[in-house]
Amino acid sequence: MVTPDTSTEADPDLRPGEVPSHWYNVIADLVGYVPEERAPARQHSGPALRPQLPLSIYRQSVSREPFVAIPAEVQAQYERWRPTPLIRARGLEQRLRTPARIYYKYEGASLSGSHKLNTAIAQAYYYKQAGVEELVTATGAGQWGTALAMACTMFGLKCTAFMVKCSHDQKPQRRMLVELNGGRVIPSPSTATKAGAAILAGDPGCPGSLSIASSEAHEYATESENARYCAGSGDNHVLLHQTVIGQEALAQLREIGDYPDAVVGALGAGSNFAGIAMPFFRHSKLTGRATELVAVEPKACPKLTRGIYTWDHHDALGNTPMSRMYTLGHTFVPSAIHAGGLRYHGAAPVVSWMYHERLISAVAYGQKSVFDAAAEFVRAEQVIPAPESAHAIRYVIDRAVKAREAGTPETILFNLSGHGLMDLSAYEQWTAGLLDDYPAAEADIERAQAKLSARAVER
Ligand SMILES: *Cc1c(COP(=O)(O)O)cnc(C)c1O
Repeated sequence: MVTPDTSTEADPDLRPGEVPSHWYNVIADLVGYVPEERAPARQHSGPALRPQLPLSIYRQSVSREPFVAIPAEVQAQYERWRPTPLIRARGLEQRLRTPARIYYKYEGASLSGSHKLNTAIAQAYYYKQAGVEELVTATGAGQWGTALAMACTMFGLKCTAFMVKCSHDQKPQRRMLVELNGGRVIPSPSTATKAGAAILAGDPGCPGSLSIASSEAHEYATESENARYCAGSGDNHVLLHQTVIGQEALAQLREIGDYPDAVVGALGAGSNFAGIAMPFFRHSKLTGRATELVAVEPKACPKLTRGIYTWDHHDALGNTPMSRMYTLGHTFVPSAIHAGGLRYHGAAPVVSWMYHERLISAVAYGQKSVFDAAAEFVRAEQVIPAPESAHAIRYVIDRAVKAREAGTPETILFNLSGHGLMDLSAYEQWTAGLLDDYPAAEADIERAQAKLSARAVER
């Protein structure tokens, strides 16, 4: 099917109860963007990495078509819980006495409890088609590991997840959730791989990071014949798969007769933000209706707001190819904040490029202020957000208060990317007054910035 480039949406008549027939590929609308990767300058350790993507996914990741058809098998799985609800946060509006209309797309309603299942199902489907038997991955807070374990079970694949150790220790129940769904969890850094063992030798108390866990997962996948590494965020195809969120939101808002002045999402590597924001990017571009796209990140891992735009690896050892992105450096180990899903050193190449071109904006918040916002949200809406999602809520509350002060009504849409029912121990710490804005992270970030600018000078 050839879709005319001028349609604002794949399904302009999508009804609020329906699941989109296509994913939206923002690359089609980015004039001047060149997707490319550079091979690693040198192999730091371990055997040469095999290409991990099946051709079907690789084609998606380099496609320039605006709309990519969703396979019927994937759509059938989506229909088990999609479309997710679009909810007007009236309780929050009243509590803030704001003239702003606040809506959230509730991805916490997915079977896995977060948006990550949208891409997990698509990836498991394509890998299965390609004859792969096991998927190996790195997971931070465990949301991705949970989603992938579920998707692997649906399509008859094995699943192994290297889980960042500090998150593993903060949320032991996550491990149980992955295992109940047929997956296997290895806390990272581990001695199961040479990469993990090397890091532990240098720093036995290392809390782990997503880039270390992905070094381990890559090594493990390379050494087993029928296993492949797959990523939960950052890559073009992952951003693509998440766009069901924004497309549904467009249709749901159309039904209500509203349109957002701002679309907001927390940013880990960027798929959650891109998932809700990109369909609005196209719609705004083609209709001329302005909407602000805002990514929200933690102050302890501020790649967009304080990183630099350069070539960098995705894993800690520097074995993966380099992408051009906003990064704090692939060796950066962020503080052990509770929003484990936002502890990734870089932002997706597409999101980074858009930020560089000022097509999107970004803000960062400290951990305590994020939990303050989450608690206010719970009392207003009776929905417990994941700490990651609460970053978006912090921004939305601040913006809605400004709207009150300025007396300007506006419409704000945000992605409530996951529920926080597995994060109650983090809330317990907030209640006990034990959370601060992590001032200690400041020194780490300054060190990372100094290291990056020294590297830039070397070139
Ligand atoms: C992983 C995660 C995020 C961050 O997602 P990215 O797609 O990497 O930006 C946000 N919210 C929740 C609940 C998550 O699990």
